[in-house]
Amino acid sequence: MSQGIIDNLVAELTRLPGIGRKSAQRLAFFILSMPAREAKSIAEAIINVKENAKFCSSCYNITDSDPCAICTDSSRDRTRICVVEEPSNIIAIERTKIFNGLYHVLLGALSPLDGITPDKLRIDELLHRLRNDGIREVILATNPNTKGEMTAKYLTEIIKPLGMEITRIAYGLPIGSDIEFADEVTLSKALEGRRTL
Ligand SMILES: [Zn+2]
Repeated sequence: MSQGIIDNLVAELTRLPGIGRKSAQRLAFFILSMPAREAKSIAEAIINVKENAKFCSSCYNITDSDPCAICTDSSRDRTRICVVEEPSNIIAIERTKIFNGLYHVLLGALSPLDGITPDKLRIDELLHRLRNDGIREVILATNPNTKGEMTAKYLTEIIKPLGMEITRIAYGLPIGSDIEFADEVTLSKALEGRRTL
């Protein structure tokens, strides 16, 4: 068998974050030993996500149908919006089953030194929703690190004049952490223990 096709797969796998040459080799030989159907299903899942995933035009979650399944779910509480930095944060919060409202993804956090100013985030889109959609509470679930706190502070200042309740998750989350990696119990407590700003 030609080494070339394995080398090619190894080279492709090393593009992934956290996958060095050794891990890529191990994965490549594992894929080689898999039933064809399973290996094919991984390849198809990658193609499918690249061809069909887009941002929800309302909340900026990743979805294959626009608006997304959360935005169109009539059983959800449409008076609460939970603001997060990344679509992956929604998955973490949904796992807790504590929150039944809507989301808004900023697609980042403020970081002026890196050129991430408010206009680079989906903040105007958030304000538009808050002005029009009958929202009673905005939960700021940006990460409890420097950028996330700065973002929460900025959002508090510009949302306050709109008159709705603004809460911030905090309790139980270690400072400097990322909510994506918080365990479910910690994240549940952080949501339940949110405080009004
Ligand atoms: Zn949506």
